[in-house]
Amino acid sequence: MPTPFTNATEQLHRATAAMQLDARVMDRLSKPDAIHEFKIPVRMDDGTEREFPAYRVQWNDSRGPFKGGIRFHPQADMDEVKALAFWMTIKTACVGLPLGGGKGGVAVNPKELSAAELERLSRGYVRALASHIGPEKDVPAPDVNTTPQIMAWMVDEYSKIVGHDSFGAFTGKPLTLFGSEGRDAATGQGGFYILDRAVSALSMQAQSTRIAVQGMGNVGSHFARLAQEAGYKVIAMSDSKGGIVVDGGLDPMEVALYKEKNGSLAGFPGARQVTNAELLELECDVLAPAALENQITAENAPRIKAKLIIELANGPTTPEADTILATNNVTVVPDVLANAGGVTVSYFEWVQNLQNFYWTEQEVLARLEPIMVSNFEMVWNIARERKIDLRTAAFVHALTRLSASIISRGFGG
Ligand code: NAD
Repeated sequence: MPTPFTNATEQLHRATAAMQLDARVMDRLSKPDAIHEFKIPVRMDDGTEREFPAYRVQWNDSRGPFKGGIRFHPQADMDEVKALAFWMTIKTACVGLPLGGGKGGVAVNPKELSAAELERLSRGYVRALASHIGPEKDVPAPDVNTTPQIMAWMVDEYSKIVGHDSFGAFTGKPLTLFGSEGRDAATGQGGFYILDRAVSALSMQAQSTRIAVQGMGNVGSHFARLAQEAGYKVIAMSDSKGGIVVDGGLDPMEVALYKEKNGSLAGFPGARQVTNAELLELECDVLAPAALENQITAENAPRIKAKLIIELANGPTTPEADTILATNNVTVVPDVLANAGGVTVSYFEWVQNLQNFYWTEQEVLARLEPIMVSNFEMVWNIARERKIDLRTAAFVHALTRLSASIISRGFGG
């Protein structure tokens, strides 16, 4: 299986084959500006000490401070964090935000930690990185297994270190610590705007569109709920242990409540069980991977039945799978566009924190939708004009903006 960073590099090469990119820009974007790799010592509740490997990759800040989440996951490693930091650079440029790209990770299974241990780990991450982050340098946010509460501990630790409140140093905070209205649902919400546009661009109808969603964390569950509320039929959902299918359609809120009560989806009334691998190959119209990387590969891509894939997760499709899907006429709306709603509302949160002036949820959504829709249309048109897939088009769109910013800044002096 190719690694996420190998996939990211191949995607960059496919895009640069479809456009003219200055060699100096290519050189700049092929490697990170800075890499931080460290260990976080944590005093465990039983008095022992454990060390957790931790990473922050700052890929490029030509268009503004590095921006990107922090992932807590047992398999987090440098390769994955590099890929995610690179994708953030493409993503912020793809939707035109005045931000760069970065990403963080800690190799930990947070489910094995008590709340107090998780807090010490989160604060330890900030202590190790404090001189490299901040509202004008690098602004982290939540990702897999990191929550608004974790962002609250992190911003508190950062504020103590710098000696004043600095709410703009992290986004995805709880509303009680000046997070933004709409941030929690933002990635799913942005993905939903993209779904609606892609469905009409492909002349499909919401009511007859069956959607399978892999992963029901922050991103997958809000997306599924919004799609169902708008009349789409969500027929399958899953968590890390497996999924359920109801051909007539599920109520995502009921599924979330069932999982909360029972700890898993097993035994959901009226549903049949599927594995996560089976979910990807279901008879459906739209597939929305919302979990982890490398789910759609050369091995299973030929068996995908969906006509449209909305990539809510980062890096769910390998380049080999992209080639197969394109041949089979499957439209893939890439992660760097489809899940950019999260970083867009993170940007709004940062703007609100810097101004200390707060917006309503309606104001947030009224600003989010045109950003998602206009960039979808630009990417769709690039794909049609150049006869390239949407991922390559999204990269071309982002690289055009990045290249202009990098060239305007110059190459030293
Ligand atoms: P989360 O921790 O809230 O949820 C992750 C979900 O994936 C959980 O339901 C988990 O059970 C499931 N999962 C884990 N391993 C799985 C597996 N092997 N198969 C199927 N499901 C599995 O995380 P999230 O914030 O919802 O992030 C999901 C994806 O979306 C990630 O790729 C993340 O990078 C991406 N993303 C998140 C945001 C954000 O704002 N949170 C923004 C953009 C992209």
